[in-house]
Amino acid sequence: MTVAPDPAPGEPWYADGLKFTCTQCGKCCTGEPGFTWVDDEEIARLAERFGLDNAAFRRRYTRRVHRDGRVRMSLTDKANHDCVFWKKGAGCTVYADRPRQCRTWPFWTRLVDSPASWADAAHDCPGMNRGARHDAATITATAANDGVDTAGGGQGSSPA
Ligand code: SF4
Ligand code: SF4
Repeated sequence: MTVAPDPAPGEPWYADGLKFTCTQCGKCCTGEPGFTWVDDEEIARLAERFGLDNAAFRRRYTRRVHRDGRVRMSLTDKANHDCVFWKKGAGCTVYADRPRQCRTWPFWTRLVDSPASWADAAHDCPGMNRGARHDAATITATAANDGVDTAGGGQGSSPA
């Protein structure tokens, strides 16, 4: 058994990259209370998809959330906490226009913050630590604009 060497000074712990390929299991889109943040741009794109004006889309598919001293918009959940756009058997019904938060998972700042955070999240996501290897520079850039903890944001929901 070998032990990976420590990263060089200044390099992230994931200097060799991280593996992730989504299995489309849907676990992160269903079943747990949480938030899928959407900003104005994402709302406009989704509204256009449904042929709605932005206000109508907001009323139908989003909710206001007071959090960390600011108001943000999240997609609504169904009564069972599935994302409003998740459909059993079909998956994400807005995939091409899904919010940034959904595109950047699992390379969220809070997940790549430490090996422990990454390992913890991997317990619930079978796509992590398998499949394609993503390089460190891409991971860092993705985390810097993850749509979760960055201003304006919004696969899977941020924990409630
Ligand atoms: S990101 Fe992970 S939890 Fe979500 S659908 Fe893909 S494999 Fe499943
Ligand atoms: S990928 Fe995002 S928008 Fe699509 S069903 Fe999952 S949480 Fe909802």
